[in-house]
Amino acid sequence: MNLVNGRYEIDGVSVLDMCTEFGTPLYVYDSNVIEAQYNRLKQAFKDTDVKINYACKALTNINILKFLNSLGSGLDTVSIQEVQLGLKAGFRPEDIIFTPNGVSFEEIEMAVDFGVIVNVDNISVLEQFGAKYGSSYPVCVRMNPHIMAGGNAKISVGHIDSKFGISIYQIKLLERVIKNYDIRVTGLHMHTGSDILDIDVFLRGADVLLESAESFPNLEFVDFGSGFKVKYSPSDNTTDVELLGKKLTKRIKEFSKTYGRELHIMFEPGKFLVSESGYLFVKTNVIKQTMSTVFAGVDSGQNHLIRPMMYDAYHHITNISNPKGTNRIYSVVGYICETDTFGWDRKLNEVHEGDILALHNAGAYGYSMSSNYNSRYRPAEVMVYKGKPYLIRRRENMEDLLSTQQMVNWEF
Ligand SMILES: *Cc1c(COP(=O)(O)O)cnc(C)c1O
Repeated sequence: MNLVNGRYEIDGVSVLDMCTEFGTPLYVYDSNVIEAQYNRLKQAFKDTDVKINYACKALTNINILKFLNSLGSGLDTVSIQEVQLGLKAGFRPEDIIFTPNGVSFEEIEMAVDFGVIVNVDNISVLEQFGAKYGSSYPVCVRMNPHIMAGGNAKISVGHIDSKFGISIYQIKLLERVIKNYDIRVTGLHMHTGSDILDIDVFLRGADVLLESAESFPNLEFVDFGSGFKVKYSPSDNTTDVELLGKKLTKRIKEFSKTYGRELHIMFEPGKFLVSESGYLFVKTNVIKQTMSTVFAGVDSGQNHLIRPMMYDAYHHITNISNPKGTNRIYSVVGYICETDTFGWDRKLNEVHEGDILALHNAGAYGYSMSSNYNSRYRPAEVMVYKGKPYLIRRRENMEDLLSTQQMVNWEF
């Protein structure tokens, strides 16, 4: 989003015009940003055989999936429904990796039937898998390298107490199961968390993963997961993917020599690809002066963007309607009957009732974590592509709210 001659625009399209045309609250995604982030990661690993699988739980609109497919991305999925969405979006089964945790074995069987890459993170599931498929269907195993990483306990998934992955300390047992059932392990995977700033954490995880690789003679790829940190606050540091690219490439080259063969490497970023592409535009319903604070109450809330409330996440806020206004301090809050604060004590250009505010970094885990709480409709979504806004999801309505409810003829 740029401020050009006093108006905010995305790829040349006026933000205020989009809010008028499609209404607020409104999610808008800038496809240029997604493409730039994809190319940046690809470029950082240009000297390896890298495959980027978009972790689609971040943002699952099928048009976004199609766009990433067109860029050459694969897809990382965590539910069979995401697998099905990916197939509908046109991804080939071999470009989809299914990395579930705690799902039923039926779901894994469905993934096999669809022909996607299956990633197993539990020895008991691997035994069932071996008993059913033996060496007839390849499998990837998700290891837990026991590294504490990530910006928040809810999104740290590689430490010793985590429910994810097969512990690196269970590798002997793992080897026995693989041997007993003649399982063909073609991939090794790790994913240690989100918002990892320190590239040494990646590199240590990679070391642990690669050290375990000698237990698996049939490997075709190693998947280093994700967790790249993006800029939420203007003062945030971000993961240096270029430096990571240099260091990890060197490590992989050495490894390939000892392993005897060049392996593909994979990453599965969600946030990195889509977070900064997205904005949630909201309208200021009320300005409320209390004894201590000036609140700007907007036409949205935790039902549309829950990250500030759930993860204490910082989302930058800009007043789109009054770019030249005097700076004042506001607490921007939602309209839900809970304390749903988007930002405390934020410096904003003076806000009037009716002004449009932008919540930045709303591309990842924004719409995809939204709900109908308070019986509110979920917003519309727009994707800006080549200087034009496209409606990619309409706003919900009362029929949508009632669509799954049954009208029983009660005789109360
Ligand atoms: C959520 C998830 C990701 C994506 O994490 P980001 O922080 O959004 O990049 C990648 N891989 C797996 C297995 C995940 O569950």
